[in-house]
Amino acid sequence: MKPPVFEYFRPASTEEALDLLAAKSGAKALAGGQSLIPAMNFRLAAPEALVDLNGITTLAGIDPLPDGGLRLGAMTRHHAIETSALVTARAPLLAEAMPFIAHPQIRNRGTVGGSLAHADPAAELPAVMLALKATLVLSARGGERRISAAEFFTGLFTTALEAGELLTAIELPARLPESGFAFIELARRHGDYALVGVAATVTLGASGTCKGARIVLFSVGEGPVAAVQAPAALEGFSPDPKVIAAAAAAVQDDIDPPSDIHASAAYRRQLARVLTGRALERAVARARAHQSNPEQ
Ligand SMILES: Cc1cc2nc3c(=O)[nH]c(=O)nc-3n(C[C@H](O)[C@H](O)[C@H](O)COP(=O)(O)OP(=O)(O)OC[C@H]3O[C@@H](n4cnc5c(N)ncnc54)[C@H](O)[C@@H]3O)c2cc1C
Repeated sequence: MKPPVFEYFRPASTEEALDLLAAKSGAKALAGGQSLIPAMNFRLAAPEALVDLNGITTLAGIDPLPDGGLRLGAMTRHHAIETSALVTARAPLLAEAMPFIAHPQIRNRGTVGGSLAHADPAAELPAVMLALKATLVLSARGGERRISAAEFFTGLFTTALEAGELLTAIELPARLPESGFAFIELARRHGDYALVGVAATVTLGASGTCKGARIVLFSVGEGPVAAVQAPAALEGFSPDPKVIAAAAAAVQDDIDPPSDIHASAAYRRQLARVLTGRALERAVARARAHQSNPEQ
């Protein structure tokens, strides 16, 4: 099918894009078009105007922050993130997740900002941003505001973005020296949306006990779900196999997954337990290795 008729604008600056979004009530931003254009072709979306962000070069880029963190421009393509040595060094959890997003052709066009603004509950990047405690920069004609990833995702395909606002950048904090990470998902075929996925970070204290853990699941609810009970089962304990198994079991009480044509709720719950256990084992091993050699 072809999309309904729409007006098309290609601004050269963020300011021009924000003016257009403010002036045109039914306008939508166009980033990589990998979700929006199919939705328009299926007539699931019918924006009156598209404001194409692809001509705004300042919206793309990966820059180091002075505190050891990273700044990603919203129009940075998935492929650029996947192949960035800076991302691998400073945000290895993000680097590990990238190859799971769709297929290379889609990663060549799709953008980090588009994925986050689209807020698909089965998407990898919202979970990673929540696990890394990212800050999202939202810009409007009146100025910009910064909100946490936890505040940004408000429900099924919905975010805190207001009419006329653009997501312009994502800031990731520096990695803690004694922390480890892991990203795991299961999909029917590589490149499909995950049946369940887990993004985890574990921070160890000097004595080897767990100081803190972030466990975020996706494809188990209306958006990324930050587990509460599973990290509580780890914190303060030495993360041996028994403790990890208890945390993985606890994750089943953190989620209320749906049943759909892809998997039943019971299967997703079981998968969440198994994948969380594997992710924690890998994250703990990496935290220990990173403690003894911070270059790893
Ligand atoms: C076959 C196929 C398989 C896929 N598999 C996966 C997968 O496994 N995992 C996954 O995560 N994704 C998957 N995707 C989606 C892909 O990752 C897209 O790149 C992503 O969802 C949207 O990014 P985009 O840049 O293409 O955004 P677009 O499609 O251009 O836009 C998506 C939405 O975000 C809004 N938007 C875009 N940029 C901004 C901005 N800066 N500020 C405010 N709003 C903005 C748009 O208005 C639109 O509503 C798949 C897509 C296809 C076609």
